Amino acid sequence: MSTQHVQRMSRLMAKTLREDPADAETLSHRLLVRAGYVRRSSAGVWTWLPLGKKVLDSVSRIVREEMDAIGAQEVLLPALLPKEPYEVSGRWSEYGDLLFRLRDRKGADYLLGPTHEEIFTLVVKDQCTSYKDLPVMLYQIQTKYRDEARPRSGVLRGREFQMKDSYSFDVTEEGLAESYRLHREAYVRIFERLGLDHRIVSAVSGAMGGSASEEFLAPAAAGEDTFVDCPSCDYAANTEAVVFVPQTAGDLAHGAMEEIPTPDTPTIETLAAHLGVPASATLKNLLVKVDGEITAVGVPGDREVDLGKLGEHLAPAVVELVTAEDFAGRPDLVRGYVGPQGLEKVPYLADPRVAPGTAWVTGANKADTHARNVVCGRDFEVDRYLDVVVVEPGDPCPRCGAGLRLDRAIEIGHIFQLGRKYADAFGLDVLGPQGKPVRVTMGSYGIGVSRAVAALAEQTADGRGLCWPAEVAPADVHVVAAGKAVPLALAERAAEALAAAGKRVLLDDRAGISPGVKLTDAELIGVPWILVAGRRAGDGVVELQDRRTGAREELPLEEAVGRVV
Ligand code: ATP
Ligand code: MG
Ligand code: MG
Ligand code: MG
Repeated sequence: MSTQHVQRMSRLMAKTLREDPADAETLSHRLLVRAGYVRRSSAGVWTWLPLGKKVLDSVSRIVREEMDAIGAQEVLLPALLPKEPYEVSGRWSEYGDLLFRLRDRKGADYLLGPTHEEIFTLVVKDQCTSYKDLPVMLYQIQTKYRDEARPRSGVLRGREFQMKDSYSFDVTEEGLAESYRLHREAYVRIFERLGLDHRIVSAVSGAMGGSASEEFLAPAAAGEDTFVDCPSCDYAANTEAVVFVPQTAGDLAHGAMEEIPTPDTPTIETLAAHLGVPASATLKNLLVKVDGEITAVGVPGDREVDLGKLGEHLAPAVVELVTAEDFAGRPDLVRGYVGPQGLEKVPYLADPRVAPGTAWVTGANKADTHARNVVCGRDFEVDRYLDVVVVEPGDPCPRCGAGLRLDRAIEIGHIFQLGRKYADAFGLDVLGPQGKPVRVTMGSYGIGVSRAVAALAEQTADGRGLCWPAEVAPADVHVVAAGKAVPLALAERAAEALAAAGKRVLLDDRAGISPGVKLTDAELIGVPWILVAGRRAGDGVVELQDRRTGAREELPLEEAVGRVV
């Protein structure tokens, strides 16, 4: 075991604050700022101070170890990317305002990478020529940029943030399924090691494209995602992805963001068939977008709406009637209208059937019951139909019918089986065993590394402050010199003994700070053990506190050190 360095609080760049930052909405935001882990640079852009950097590095280390363990190879791609590959994939326009775009001195367009499917595809196209070069899994831990509409909640949602993104390349479906499985299992190990309580839920594929996808959600009040889970079976899904099957006639039908192939004429029958419900089913809500924000249609005093009569029911609600022209230049808007056969959803492209006044967008919403966090352009492509409906606690589980629970969570990871979307766009082929080109199939897998720090803070903090699990804590033990002279000398001795035993030590040797303030700071900073040399320092006795349980014990120094080691 190597001797560790003692970090002295007198030298540490971490100014703790007594007051919450004015703009802080979430617990993790308040505490990470107050405890001196991070400081805001600009909206959604953060500086990681020494304590925060240590936690961030620990999360990265665990992620790296588990990615290496499944045979993924670490690379580092640029964050500054040329426009062309994103034009080829279509995401230069699909991403809309989410993309940070810039121009070089010669007038060439660039972007700051929000995620790297395109670039990884090109790397593999350059490096791999034969099926024998595959499968391959590549990853990076890198700074990502997304011009989020509302970068709130501190590092939970940054405009600049750290992501681990990996990509798998296979020649067969089975190969892709295996790469996906390896990632899924690695993610479980990562979040277990981090000490993050998490759920794996069905998800929609979003702007990544592709088919199968699951999210890793960390339940927390500050979460911006809502998920359902079933108390009697293992069904769990992001409300973005819940597909409901009516249990009884007249039951609410819920659809996920479903795609109806554009050539089909969408009628109430095709829509109902696609949602897997009878055409006579009732709908509770329909999700649409208003002022750049997704909202659900709410029907006052009425939980359910006959699909066919949706138009009538909407009339008395807070429904904003719009004309077909209102959609011009707004491909991000979802529109629907009530036609001869009931509710019909229409493509975004100009549709002559949409007479002025028959298309609608709404502003009504019902607190805490609707699907949240759905963003057009991010979660579906603009030529797709959208139909997301409200889920409420107690709604029937689509698998077993039991009443669902509804909870808030933070999305900490997302895994996708992309299939051939990017391989097709970039012509990524390798020579197969028969000497013929074979199209490669891909997966993409993300973890919000910086977000995980905040998610951990959310889940573990208590009334006294942060409270880190041992694996990610910025130190193993926080030694407090509660007094000058004798207590300070004993604290120094304790720090040295602990460091020699391989423990990472934070030593509060600050002069002129009262023992009470030092203890409050130690609790706020949240290192697993707090060792206080104070009142009984003359007898060589210290107080050892378990930060999580709050249990305190007075012990001779050597015994206390032995307890921590
Ligand atoms: P969200 O729904 O929260 O906007 P996302 O679905 O857009 O996230 P992905 O594209 O799936 O995110 O990216 C992979 C991971 O990166 C997410 O699971 C999340 O942990 C993290 N992440 C995404 N956006 C941010 C952000 N703005 N700040 C911090 N982490 C983020
Ligand atoms: Mg997003
Ligand atoms: Mg998401
Ligand atoms: Mg996601």
